[in-house]
Amino acid sequence: MIVPSTMRMAQAAGALRFASRVKHTKIPFGAHALRSYATSPDLYDELTTPNGLKYKQPKGLFIGGDFVPSKANEWFEVTSPATGKKILDIAEGKEADVDTAVEAAETAFNEWSRLPPYTRSRALAKIADRIEERADVFAAVETWDNGKTIKMSLGDVAQVVQTFRYYAGWADKITGKVIETDEDHFNYVRKEPLGVCGMVIPWNFPLLMVSWKIAPALATGNTCVLKSAESTPLTALLFAEVIKDIPELPKGAVNILSGFGPVGGAISSHNGIKKVAFTGSTLTGRRVLESSAKSNLKKVTLELGGKSPNIVFNDAKLDEALDAALFGIFYNQGEVCCAGTRLFVQEGIYDQFVSALKERAETLKVGDPFDPEITYGAQTNAVQYEKVLNYIESGKKEGRLLTGGAKIDGDGLFIQPTIFVDLDKDSTVAREEVFGPVLAVVKFKDADEAVKYANDTEYGLASGVHTTSIEKAIYVANNLKAGTVWVNTYNALTPELPFGGYKASGIGRELGEEVLNNYLETKTVRIAGISTGLGAPKL
Ligand code: NAP
Ligand code: MG
Repeated sequence: MIVPSTMRMAQAAGALRFASRVKHTKIPFGAHALRSYATSPDLYDELTTPNGLKYKQPKGLFIGGDFVPSKANEWFEVTSPATGKKILDIAEGKEADVDTAVEAAETAFNEWSRLPPYTRSRALAKIADRIEERADVFAAVETWDNGKTIKMSLGDVAQVVQTFRYYAGWADKITGKVIETDEDHFNYVRKEPLGVCGMVIPWNFPLLMVSWKIAPALATGNTCVLKSAESTPLTALLFAEVIKDIPELPKGAVNILSGFGPVGGAISSHNGIKKVAFTGSTLTGRRVLESSAKSNLKKVTLELGGKSPNIVFNDAKLDEALDAALFGIFYNQGEVCCAGTRLFVQEGIYDQFVSALKERAETLKVGDPFDPEITYGAQTNAVQYEKVLNYIESGKKEGRLLTGGAKIDGDGLFIQPTIFVDLDKDSTVAREEVFGPVLAVVKFKDADEAVKYANDTEYGLASGVHTTSIEKAIYVANNLKAGTVWVNTYNALTPELPFGGYKASGIGRELGEEVLNNYLETKTVRIAGISTGLGAPKL
């Protein structure tokens, strides 16, 4: 569809409204303003990734088992953050497409929820196999679209495969139980799927987030309508392509919509959707909760922001602690919800640790994410890039810049690894989620002070403790208000372990056995008269 220029201006104004919700963002454009309106009816493009892999990129919405254009026949541009260059135009879903996707998922639910659990398990195992077979293409497309290094993308794909295999294992082990009360009653508790589940995901781990949401939902017999993030829609579409013809998976069991925030809003407020799993910012998470309250009170789980503490004691193995501090903040360009953004270092080793940190940070290489020598790649979108640069400027006023502190000139969205030291724990960069490669270092005296500083935040997603004393590790771990505590490691996620936040970092847990309950209703059945033959109590 060719859109008249007045409408384009209205679209751009919409873009501005979105861009302005990001704190400290001054730039008047984001990915939205770059949208264009292609006329091609083709729903695939033959592409070659920057590392030379030829593949077919789907570009429609995936609804009812097929790629389709959006009802409004609108398209938006997908760009590579490492080069600023366009990759292709893809279909832009709108609220009306959510309705169609929900209908398709409702129909599929009738079939999928009634299949023998073993069949569901087989389907999930096949999804894992198909992704694994195409791991190199998935990784290359992720790096192209998101800007993370190819090494990180390959790591993400491996975790995606592991996640689907893990939930394939659970799919045929969802059981209720019998609960004994007295001789006259037989009681059992059934676990039933909810129906159509909605999912809204961010841009930092585009494919991994697809797996965290879709694998447990399918394993428990639900069907899915997922919206990818506008900056990184490509691997979710590729995922749709590889699962398209798995015979055990009914058409419409998984629906994928590319699109902007309002599509997430439509999912959160849709009366046909029984649960929404959201990962993203705390601000948007509040909106999702509000939409649920104002519509059908769908169940809501939220995986939100963080400002996680990483605590290094005098008795830590310093070399390992340095690795963990750097991996904690610079992994995935710092675009990690659980990043160890607040580094607390005990006073006895503070000076030595800080100077070693500077030395190591300056060996990190930022640049072309397809280059295997590169440590970290481009920030994923222009809005976030500007936001990070603004935080760096405020850090310069609040503390001492140890290293970095600038963007890297060129067409890509690259930022130097940046560390601030001698910060007050209440300074902006030590309190607010930056979501980029910016570390705030703060000194502490003893374990109690470390715990006090660490917990003094609205967030509570993750944390790290580095010490050779097991007593100290357990004392601190038990007193931190965070969903995960890593001891002598950091960012060490695995699908078997529950993950999620205390306080403003979220509601509910993803992964592990724990996530399954988010996707199941509990039904209690109580049968009277087993030994007496008497049924209901009498007045
Ligand atoms: P975001 O702005 O909240 O966006 C997340 C998703 O919500 C995107 O798909 C977005 O669409 C969509 N959205 C926007 N407005 C919406 C609305 N009104 N209703 C429903 N959905 C809406 O977050 P982000 O900037 O993409 O991601 C970064 C944030 O995610 C950080 O705060 C990070 O800590 C958090 N995160 C948390 C976890 C965790 O597990 N706790 C994991 C990863 C990231 P658009 O793409 O169009 O904006
Ligand atoms: Mg992109």
